[in-house]
Formats: sequence, structure tokens, C-alpha cells
Amino acid sequence: MKIIIIPGDGIGPETMAVTTRVLEAASARFKLNLELRHEIAGHQSLEKYGSTVTTALLEKVKAANGLMLGPMATYDFKDESKGEINPSKFFRKELDLFANIRPARTYPNVPTCVNPFDLAVVRENTEGFYADRNIESGNSEMLITPDVVISLRRITRNCCERIAKAAFELAMTRKKHVTIVHKANVLKIGDGMFIDICRQVGVQYPQVVIDDFIVDAMMAHVVRAPQRFDTIVTTNMFGDILSDLTAELSGSLGLGGSLNAGERYAMGQAAHGSAPDIAGKDIANPFSLIVSSSMLLNWHGQNKGLMQFCDASKAIEHCMGELIASGETTGDIGGKLGTKAVGDAFIKRFNTH
Ligand code: NAD
Repeated sequence: MKIIIIPGDGIGPETMAVTTRVLEAASARFKLNLELRHEIAGHQSLEKYGSTVTTALLEKVKAANGLMLGPMATYDFKDESKGEINPSKFFRKELDLFANIRPARTYPNVPTCVNPFDLAVVRENTEGFYADRNIESGNSEMLITPDVVISLRRITRNCCERIAKAAFELAMTRKKHVTIVHKANVLKIGDGMFIDICRQVGVQYPQVVIDDFIVDAMMAHVVRAPQRFDTIVTTNMFGDILSDLTAELSGSLGLGGSLNAGERYAMGQAAHGSAPDIAGKDIANPFSLIVSSSMLLNWHGQNKGLMQFCDASKAIEHCMGELIASGETTGDIGGKLGTKAVGDAFIKRFNTH
């Protein structure tokens, strides 16, 4: 399995360095024969090549079996004509990574303000309120006059169907409960269609219980009782927001891993951003990216029928659980270790099994 590794901006190089060590250790222990190719995107690429991402990089990613993308300083990238392209959008759109799976769960030793829970947000990744990916060429956010902006939201039957299917498939491996999150009381046509299609797809999964919540009320429900939820399917922006909330409720945004998956390609990526407020301080939690790498290995194993990849994924998450239980973590989840030291502790424990 060839994986392209892109450290990203801010805390990315620190957390990706630890994640790379974890992947190398998993490769050695489970004989995965991983080939890790190091590339750049974001600020580093903008300085070197005049663009945050390049078509040459895209070709390399297409020729590989997976991508680990570090967090990007997306907010800094304002003008595509100057090479300031949002790398997350670029890969999600170019590789058609329509399903953004963002698990969140509590751990016994991590302080939280909620009851224990274990859920996954399945977020549509290629349309919705994200105007930068809704039309073939250019951006569907338009400055009509200096005082008027129109941003187009796109909802299509095809994208609703495929994200719904991804959610029900995932629910079948979990507690068989899908919650549809929407704003169909206001966005009656678009989100009305989203709900209808999710429920139609759900007919093929009679074992799965289905309910739905309006997105604003969902915020209250998920804070009040996150243990009520299992698999949550929703459109792009609602899923982006909700999944930061669920990651933080689990103890820290630094636990928020994710997989962006399509039919042919997949990209592991932390749910959070480049965290400039803590960059370079050796305090960022690497677990979000480690979980993401584990999800990428599992995706590959499932797709290719290679169980050693699924076993490696389980072992990584098991080891992470043990570290958390013993308090060998960064400060955001109650530990006293730096980012690098968490990496050392992980490798030591992982290799002694
Ligand atoms: P952020 O997600 O980077 O940070 C939010 C808060 O969470 C900060 O207090 C940060 O210190 C903390 N945090 C994030 N990751 C952490 C970790 N691993 N360990 C411990 N604490 C962690 O959000 P922001 O500050 O609003 O955005 C910074 C930049 O990231 C912006 O340019 C934004 O556009 C970009 N961004 C990128 C992505 C992505 O690449 N997928 C996602 C979200 C935001």
C-alpha cells in the first residue's frame, strides 16, 4: 500500500511526524509493506511552487492507495488566482471523496461534561453550502454588487443517495441506528429531498432504526444526551459543525479523526484545523491524525479484503485506548506529555504487544 503523506500547516508537521511513526510501526508489526511518500501542500507548497496544491501532486495521489492530509491553514488561502487553493476542497472534489466519516467517543480516563457515548457523523463532502465545490468551474459564491453576495447551495439526488448508503452501511457495523440531521423546516425542498432519499435508502436496511432531527435542536440533543445517537447522516456544513461539537464533547477536538472516502480513493484527515494558537509548542494532540490513519488502513483492508490492514487498524486504536487509560496523553485530555513524547509512548507500547 502506497500512502502519500502531507504534513500540512500549523500543528500538522508535529502531529503528522508522530502519525508517520505509528504507520511505520504498524507496517513492521503487521507486515503491511507500507510505502510512505512524503509530499507538501499548503503554505510550504505555495512558497515552493506558487500554489498550495499542484496537478503533479494530484497525479501522485491518484497513483497511490491512500492519502494522509495534515491540517491546512485554509483561512489564509483567499485567492485561487494566486495559487491559494483550499487543499481539502481540492482533494475532496478531484478525488470525489463524498463521505466524510467522523467518529467520536468518550474514553474512561478523559474528563467530559456528558455521559459516555460512541457515535459517528457521516457528512456529505462534495456539495451543500460549500459554494467552492458546487459548479464545474469557478466558485458559486458571487459578489453581485459591493453590498450583495450570493452563495449557492447545491443538493443533488445522486449525492444524497450515496451519502445515505454510506451511512446505512456504517450503521450496519455499529448499533443499527441512523439519525438524519437537516433543516427541512426552512430548506423545504433541498433538505426535504435529503430526508426522503435517506428514508428511501433506509428501506433496504430494515434492521436499522431511523429518526430525524432539525439541526438546531440537534445541537441541544447531542449536548444533553449524546449517548442517544449512533450514526448521524447530514449535509456538508451541518456535518462539519456538528462533528467539531461531538469531538469536543468526547474530550477534545484533538481526538477528532476522520476519513474522506469515495469509490476509488480515501484520505485520512483530522477533523480540526491547523490550530495556529498551539503550533510549534509540542502540545498538540496527535490522536486525531492517528485515528484518521487507522481509518485509512481499515478502509484499504476492507476494500481489498486484506485482513492484516484491518487488524493493524484495530491494534492502533487499542493502543491509543491504553495510552489514554494510563494518562500518557497531551494536556488537552488531561495528560502531561508533549506531542513527541506521546509518539514515544505509543511506539513503546505498540511494539511490546
Ligand atoms: P482549529 O480546528 O485549528 O482549532 C480550534 C481549537 O481547537 C483551537 O483552540 C486549537 O488549539 C484546538 N485544537 C485543534 N486541534 C487540536 C489538537 N490536535 N490538539 C489540541 N488542541 C487542538 O480551528 P481554527 O483555529 O478556527 O482554524 C485554524 C485554521 O485551520 C484556519 O485557517 C481554518 O480555516 C483551518 N481549518 C482547516 C481544516 C482542515 O484542514 N480540514 C479544518 C478546520 C479549520
